[in-house]
Order: sequence, then structure tokens, then C-alpha cells
Amino acid sequence: MGLLQLGTPLEWPEAKKAASQVREWGIEQLLHIWNQAKGKERNALLWGDEIEYLVVSLDDEQKKARLSLCQAEVLKSLASDEALAKANAVKSHPPDDPIGNDSTLPTFHPEFGRFMLEATPGKPWGIGFNDLLKVENDMKNRRVIAKAHMDKNQLPITLTTFPRLGTKDDFIDPYYPPSGPALRSQFVPDEIANPHIRFPTLAANIRSRRGRKVELNVPVFKDSKTPSPFKDPTVNYDLHNWPEDDDVRNGAAKDDHVYMDAMAFGMGSCCLQITFQAKNIREGRTMYDQLSPLGPIFLALTAATPIYKGFLVDTDVRWNQISRAVDDRTKEELGEAPLKNDRWRIPKSRYASNSTYIAEDPRLRPEYLDPDLVVDEKLKRRLLDGGMDERLATHFAHLFIRDPIVVFNEDLKELDVKGSNHFENLQSTNWQHMRFKPPPTDADIGWRVEFRSMEILMTDFENAAFSIFMVLITRAILSFDLNFYIPIPCTTENMETAHQRNAVMDSKFWFRKDPFPRRSGRSPLFDGENGSASASGTSTPANQSRPQTPAEPAPVTDEYTLMTVDEIINGSSNPDCGFPGLVPIVESYLNNMNVPVVTRCELARYLDLIRQRANGTLWTGAKWIREFVRKHPDYKQDSVVSETITYDLIKAADQITRCEGRDGSLGWEMMSAQTRAKGLDH
Ligand code: ADP
Ligand code: MG
Ligand code: MG
Ligand code: MG
Ligand code: MG
Ligand code: MG
Repeated sequence: MGLLQLGTPLEWPEAKKAASQVREWGIEQLLHIWNQAKGKERNALLWGDEIEYLVVSLDDEQKKARLSLCQAEVLKSLASDEALAKANAVKSHPPDDPIGNDSTLPTFHPEFGRFMLEATPGKPWGIGFNDLLKVENDMKNRRVIAKAHMDKNQLPITLTTFPRLGTKDDFIDPYYPPSGPALRSQFVPDEIANPHIRFPTLAANIRSRRGRKVELNVPVFKDSKTPSPFKDPTVNYDLHNWPEDDDVRNGAAKDDHVYMDAMAFGMGSCCLQITFQAKNIREGRTMYDQLSPLGPIFLALTAATPIYKGFLVDTDVRWNQISRAVDDRTKEELGEAPLKNDRWRIPKSRYASNSTYIAEDPRLRPEYLDPDLVVDEKLKRRLLDGGMDERLATHFAHLFIRDPIVVFNEDLKELDVKGSNHFENLQSTNWQHMRFKPPPTDADIGWRVEFRSMEILMTDFENAAFSIFMVLITRAILSFDLNFYIPIPCTTENMETAHQRNAVMDSKFWFRKDPFPRRSGRSPLFDGENGSASASGTSTPANQSRPQTPAEPAPVTDEYTLMTVDEIINGSSNPDCGFPGLVPIVESYLNNMNVPVVTRCELARYLDLIRQRANGTLWTGAKWIREFVRKHPDYKQDSVVSETITYDLIKAADQITRCEGRDGSLGWEMMSAQTRAKGLDH
């Protein structure tokens, strides 16, 4: 989440009138950034993670867990923490090197939900292996610090969603009844959102633009005693407070689905994001493209979201719910009404998997591009005339098909071409699974790429493992010049596949068979004696040393096939596929780097987690939570996740987090031992 600007936000009809101006000014700012920064070279690869928490308050007497609306108090208390304040002062007044300071204490940020917190490392991590080994402890430390600024009964929890958000009981502390003028939800009050004017405006303007409330229908998990058809019993069809109360009478709530109607059901979920700084724009564009096909795979592998609004659901991840929760498309744009007032049909929500590749890479075949891409041709023309290349201009002209949602009156008076407010307005409300971040205008930072699809995981060991793995695979991509290109519609489809219950074990994903630069037989990496890599550990420029493209390239469809997550992560023995596996590729990269044995052993703990999640030895969080509910004595096989089950689940999640010893898997082992002892396990 960007900095929170103050000002007078326009209501939707006014904001809409200013949309073209904001877009055009945003494009001028982008061109200025582009011309300033396109030649920028940074030496180091830096990276940083973002961890999001739910704050839960526990009532041990009543055995109730509630979402605690304490974000402001906790952030205020954190801000008055002397040590943190000192570290932050160093950060904002860097001595010489903007990031080379000593501040190692974390930074805390507000988020959409008034029950959420976000924490990032105090300064970005370096690429050194020593830094990788600091990540887990740093994440644990963030949790300890956050907790120290909360009441005794409050806990920072890294579940993606709160199981009973939006139920009829008093699931928030303090209690406010629905509904309010911004969200107009029949399930949650406006007080659920961060009160900063940006958030209610964002929610209200998305709703107004759309012409009805946002609509989230998640298929319910049909257990043996779940009614069929399932009609969401929490929906009230008789409300008449707002015009939007008609939505459910017009069919918004679907049979066999859990129905939700507000931004908070999506943007109130927690995720794990990783931002990488590239050496230069060219490397950034390569990272963006090559990490893109990994998005859905890591969504499936981190699956942790089997419950909504007090019901088990038949999907395992949060993604589509957030997508729907901020989907501002009109009926015309959705294709539900003939185009009359709007400019085009738009296939995806502004929160969706991404639709562009941006590298100037000879390996990027035209067949990989999205045939359904919508771009604003006029803005693209302006970018091209301003000197931007075709591919990047297409990317931004695609992001800029959207309207700005929150427009501050004060910003419309004069264009500050050296600023970035209008550009960021559109950029930061295009929530795609990869984000290409240009250098900010006010800090000496390079081109960055953000990997945004992963779910937050219950323990810091897991969050560290996935963060570190993404760093290592990124290094391997650059060192070995790996090629993961598949057609963008395949990634779009994979994103849907990742939602399927237990996709990690049961589903197949489109993936490229041969990621290596040369097509001569199998991998150059694994042909060496003892199977160790032979490629050099240094970054190769993307278009040197690559053989000429053959006159008749093989059909694109021969390049990729359907694979299980296990095959993608651990390698495939199927001769027709032959994919070496992301973990073996990372191992091979580590072999090349002559990593000290001790470091290698430490990293092996993290790689083991990834490997075992993929081959099913270890369950995903989604499966663990689902089974926890289904084996709970209070569960009646009817999909209902009761208050008691929720309380016990939160306690268990907290216990797992705190039981984590040096060996991060300890908490999980203890928990499964406990569930077994209680007869709750298989
Ligand atoms: P946003 O919410 O817009 O994605 P945040 O500031 O919350 O951004 O988090 C961005 C992440 O990027 C943090 O982990 C931070 O440490 C990291 N980061 C900051 N500067 C750099 C940099 N120059 N290179 C790489 N990562 C960086
Ligand atoms: Mg965030
Ligand atoms: Mg952030
Ligand atoms: Mg931010
Ligand atoms: Mg309290
Ligand atoms: Mg982020």
C-alpha cells in the first residue's frame, strides 16, 4: 500500500469526469520517470518481503475469537516505540547510502482492514546468502514487536482470512452493526475498513462505478450434511436501507455458493509479497516475464483459504475473491449489456493475473501474447511519441484502460510533471499478480518487480521459506538465462486452476517443458558429470550467446504441456515432458555458487518445505485448516465453521506459530501430533 495522501476526494460522478485528465497527466509523469530512469543501473539485487497480519482478540471465557479493529492504536503505539522511531529516522534521513544504513528493525504499515497490519524488513535484503539466513528470525521478530504493542488478549495471526468475517454474530471488537453508506454491505459495517478517507472512497466509488455492489460467490464445500441446493442462510432478502439492497433480490446470491457483497471480503485478506530490485530496466523486464508463469503455481502451493463467512468452501485460495471484491466493471464492460456508454469490453477485473509480457527478448514469440489485450491506443501513441518502446508502451496503455477511482480535488489544479501521483493512482489500483515498479521520483531506488500471488502462511518458517525460494529461483533465472515463457492465456487459465480444492495434488498446470536456453538435447545444466550444473553463475546478457532461432521454429504448442505442481517443483520423470524441476534448478544454482556447507544446510530446511509441500508429504495450510474443521467435535458435517471451531482454530494457529523452534517445522509436527493424540487426525 502506498503512502496515504490527504485531500478532498471526489465522489464518483465527479471523479469520472476527471478520469481522462488523470490518465493523461499520469502518462506524462510516466514519460518523465521513463526518460529519467531508463538508463539507471544499480549494482546490487535487493529484495524485500511484505507480511500481512490479522489482529484477533481472544475472549477465553466466552471462547470467542473476534477481529480486533485496533490498527490505529497499534500503529500509534509502534510509532511511539523509541527504538523503532530511531530506526525509522535513520531510514528517512539516510547518511550517504539510502539503503546501506544500520536500521534493522522492521517497519509497520496500515492496510485496508482496520483489523490488519503489514510489516516489512527495516531495509531491503541484499542478495548475500547471509541475508537469506536472517529472514526467518526477522519475520519472527516482527511478530514479537507487533504483539508487544497490542493488548494482552490480542494476537497478530497470519491466516489469509478471518473464518467468520461477515457472520451474524459479533465478529468484530468493538462491535458495530452493518451497514454503512460506503460499503452498503448487509454483512459488514463501514467501520471494518481503515477510516482514512482513501479507503471508504475506494469502496464507495468502485460500487458506484459498477452500478451495484461487488459480488463474491464462492462455491460451498458440500459435506455429507450440507443442504443441497445450498442457499446461503445468512443472506437477508428483506432489507430496504439502500438501493443496493435490491442486489440480492435481483439474483446476486447464487445457489450452492457463499455470497459476499463488500470490498472487505477481498481486501481484508492477507498475503505474502516479494519485491525485487533489478540491476537495470532490462533485467527487471526479464524478471517480470519469467516470474509471471510461476504466479499460479505458487498460489496453489501456498493455498491457505478454505473458509468464508463461517462456511467451508470448495476452493483453497483467496485470489478470485479479492478480484471480485474490487471489480469495478460496468455491465457493458462485463459484456452483460451492449456497449453504449463505455469504451470497451474488459475481460478481467483490475485485480487479476497479468496480461502482458514486457521484456525485449527474442525468445518472446508473438504467439505468447494475450490476444484479448485491451489497450488505450491514444495513450499508447503518446508513450511511443515520448520515446517508449512498443512493448512497454503496450503494458502501460493496458493498465491505463481503467478509470482512477480515488481522485483528490487538490490534484487536478496543476500537473506536476516531476511527480508521480497521477501515474501511481492508476498503477497502484491495477492489482495484477506481477507488478513492474518504476523508480520512485523521490528516492534513489531502481526498477523493481513484485511477485504478488502467494498466500500468507501460518508460520514465519513457511513465509521465510517461500520468500527465500523466490529469491533463489530469481537468481537461477538470471544466471542460467531460463525461459519459462508460455502463452499468457495459459497463465490466466492456471490461475483459475489454482483455486480448485487441493489443486496442489490433484490439478495440472500449463508449464514450459524445457526452460534452458539451448534446445540441444536435454538441459545443459544437468548434463555434466555428477549432475552438477555447468552454466556460469554470473548473469548473462539476455541476447548474447544465444544460438540463432531456427528458420522453422517448432509450434508453440510443443513447448509446453500440463504438469502437476510436483512435476514443476521436483521434476518430471515423464520422458515426453522432462521438466527438471524448480528445486533441482535451484540446487544446481547453489552448487555453482560454492555455497558454504553450513549455509547450504540451513537453506536445505527451506527447500525441503517447498519440495514436501509439492509432493504431498506436507499438507498445505488450506488442507490442514479444512481437516482441522472437519475433525472438530463441534463440526456437524454441514460446512458450518462455528464460533467455537473458529476460536480453537485461532488458538491452534497461534500455538503453531509460537511453538516454532529453531527448526521451523516443529510447530507443525507438534500440532499434527496433537491432532493425532486427540483422534482428530486421519
Ligand atoms: P508496496 O506495498 O507498494 O508493495 P512496500 O513499501 O509495502 O510496497 O513494500 C515493498 C517491499 O520492497 C519491502 O519489503 C521493502 O523492503 C522492499 N524494498 C524497498 N526498497 C527496495 C529496493 N530498492 N529494492 C528492492 N526491494 C525494496
Ligand atoms: Mg499490503
Ligand atoms: Mg506494502
Ligand atoms: Mg507501500
Ligand atoms: Mg480489547
Ligand atoms: Mg506490495
